[in-house]
Amino acid sequence: MDSRCPHWLFGDQLGPHFLPGDGVPLVMVEAKSVFRRRRFHRAKAHLVLSAMRHRAAELGERVTYVRAETYREGIERFARGRRLTVHHPTSRAAAGLVERLGNVEVRPARGFLVPRVEFAAWADQHGGARGTLRQEDFYHWVRRTQDLLMDGDQPLGGRWNFDHDNREPPPRRAESLDVPAPYRPREDAVDEEVRRDLDRWERDGDVAFVGRDGPRVFPATRREALNALKRFTTGRLATFGPYEDAMLAGDPVMSHSLLSSSMNLGLLDPDECVRRAEAAGRAGDAPMRSVEGFVRQVAGWREYVWQLYWYFGEDYRHRNALGATQPLPRWFLDLDADAVTARCLATVLRQVRDSGWTHHIPRLMVLGSFALQRGWDPAELTDWFHRCFVDGYDWVMLANVVGMSQYADGGRMTSKPYTSGGAYVNRMSDLCGGCAYRPTERTGERACPYTAGYWAFLDRHRDRLEGNPRMARAVKGLDRLKDLRRLLDERAGLDDGPP
Ligand SMILES: Cc1cc2nc3c(=O)[nH]c(=O)nc-3n(C[C@H](O)[C@H](O)[C@H](O)COP(=O)(O)OP(=O)(O)OC[C@H]3O[C@@H](n4cnc5c(N)ncnc54)[C@H](O)[C@@H]3O)c2cc1C
Ligand code: SF4
Repeated sequence: MDSRCPHWLFGDQLGPHFLPGDGVPLVMVEAKSVFRRRRFHRAKAHLVLSAMRHRAAELGERVTYVRAETYREGIERFARGRRLTVHHPTSRAAAGLVERLGNVEVRPARGFLVPRVEFAAWADQHGGARGTLRQEDFYHWVRRTQDLLMDGDQPLGGRWNFDHDNREPPPRRAESLDVPAPYRPREDAVDEEVRRDLDRWERDGDVAFVGRDGPRVFPATRREALNALKRFTTGRLATFGPYEDAMLAGDPVMSHSLLSSSMNLGLLDPDECVRRAEAAGRAGDAPMRSVEGFVRQVAGWREYVWQLYWYFGEDYRHRNALGATQPLPRWFLDLDADAVTARCLATVLRQVRDSGWTHHIPRLMVLGSFALQRGWDPAELTDWFHRCFVDGYDWVMLANVVGMSQYADGGRMTSKPYTSGGAYVNRMSDLCGGCAYRPTERTGERACPYTAGYWAFLDRHRDRLEGNPRMARAVKGLDRLKDLRRLLDERAGLDDGPP
């Protein structure tokens, strides 16, 4: 194919690592139908459009920026039968469109560490077909093949995994972590234009959003994303490890990097993120437990869920091993945090409503755990996460929500369901202190919805879970509950209103 034929940049391919050689003309398509079809978080719509328009402005005359109703219409209007190139899109829907267009040559994916074919070969050899893949094995393989955080053929620091040293509760009586504030960008004229457009679309009834609009808080340009990476690796990485799993009501970010949206928009390459963290560790600026913790998140988890998106196949999104069919209630769909009494859920839902972001433990152990206990439909929940989070993309949702959070794949992704009673939230946060419920109570007026919900969940799925070696003890615990009947009766009497 002619090396000068135009190259198509999707809206999540915005960094320099997606550019073809000098002089190759570029095209970007802003498709309004994306927002018409689903009710996205307003902050997410803003971020994506702002990032695309900023990129177009940087690329100047080299790029043709097409505003169209759909991708197909936009690309056909631009190409008029000419051939194009593109790097592998990140969703099955986009990959299918590119294939159906017929005039687009697909180049390998960028923005991830390992080529898909190499992963498929590794997974086939490691029990992928039998469903016994292990994330930890994958992570070691990535570290070895990428020579990442290695000392010859041994892990730097003598261990692959510092999880055991991490997972600390928040410091006692602290309202926030004593770390430099995360980088926050400043809005500019491009953001003003985006805001005007979104206001107009909403006014005209073309689209509807969920969540609050506020100043943009995530990077929309490469320069902003690099600033965020620098602020994280120089000032905040050191405390990442110990408090990775902790939650504080007044400090939603703690030591988290806030880099997911930048990596998922393609503004940052994950390789540069982990190399910067490694360099900080080697220079003695951050302890190995934090460096390894961050590298594991990016090279272990992010990379793993990307690879599994393709490896597990399209059917995976429809899995529903626990037969969960309850629809998501209105208050949850509307992010109506003020309607919720349970302090942990209200706090986290408020964070999502106001910013489209919360860190991984609130996602897993507050939002996801609640949905799992209530038997909410996993496909609907996947859609909710996708729409409501600034970093939500189809590829990152499936393994995280269907697999990790909802156990809807019956254990292909994790060896046990991730849910807990209020004791976990109480240990890992300061949230229970000011709550109307008590984490230790499972029946009565002050019964914690998570504690009661946990036992009800175990009871509902007793048959399936008692054979799981990691759950058997918990299931046995049901037999010791003298008030189980009362607990189940109280749960049966609940409607789908906010807890
Ligand atoms: C139910 C559920 C839904 C999630 N949805 C998303 C999502 O839509 N988009 C998304 O990027 N992440 C998602 N995650 C993973 C994780 O919660 C976010 O990546 C993280 O909270 C983003 O904040 P951060 O950048 O400060 O992350 P940090 O805690 O600083 O972690 C560093 C980086 O590791 C990567 N990472 C860590 N864990 C994962 C993971 N499981 N999957 C993918 N990347 C990971 C991210 O790129 C992140 O920026 C989800 C996790 C769960 C349990
Ligand atoms: S008591 Fe229960 S509902 Fe209240 S904050 Fe703790 S875990 Fe959440």
